[in-house]
Amino acid sequence: MKLQVDHIKETPTLVPIDQPAEQFPVLASLQADTVCSFTGPVSGTVSAVKEYDHLRVTGDLSVPARMECSRCLTSFGMALKARFTVIYRRDVSIPSADEAETELDEQALVSATYSGDNIDLSPEIGEQLAMELPLKPLCSEGCRGLCQTCGADLNQGQCGCDSRDFSLTFSALKDFKVQQR
Ligand SMILES: [Zn+2]
Ligand SMILES: [Zn+2]
Repeated sequence: MKLQVDHIKETPTLVPIDQPAEQFPVLASLQADTVCSFTGPVSGTVSAVKEYDHLRVTGDLSVPARMECSRCLTSFGMALKARFTVIYRRDVSIPSADEAETELDEQALVSATYSGDNIDLSPEIGEQLAMELPLKPLCSEGCRGLCQTCGADLNQGQCGCDSRDFSLTFSALKDFKVQQR
């Protein structure tokens, strides 16, 4: 995903994105490491505009992914959605005198540099989407997970061993206390 720098003007250029996830190195390596798999293309819109001495690129993108629930180990699908802004400056190593960027609420604001006539957006897009991956994926908020004793999926119903183990240990402890007196 490359932008031609001299095509970016003071009025925003909108670029529709519809590209296989494998073309984004960060996403390809997530898939190679079996963290998750992507079931469709990265899609959405990127907008680029020329401002003062830099280019502002905003993205609103999503990609459908499949991953394993961290509680019940079932594979489930969810879309990773990212909205972000990247400020691209030409890499000429000017000391950063005016770093006072206007705050953008609820959006990731990233600074990056480019050289040459093209800006390759793939690394930033891949990274922004990868950051949306949950640390502990859950198939649903109320996932009951697996039984600690028999390994049954408790979302499918009770297995019969529920908390008996715990109560046994507890009553044994009580008896022990009684005997001590
Ligand atoms: Zn689950
Ligand atoms: Zn059980």
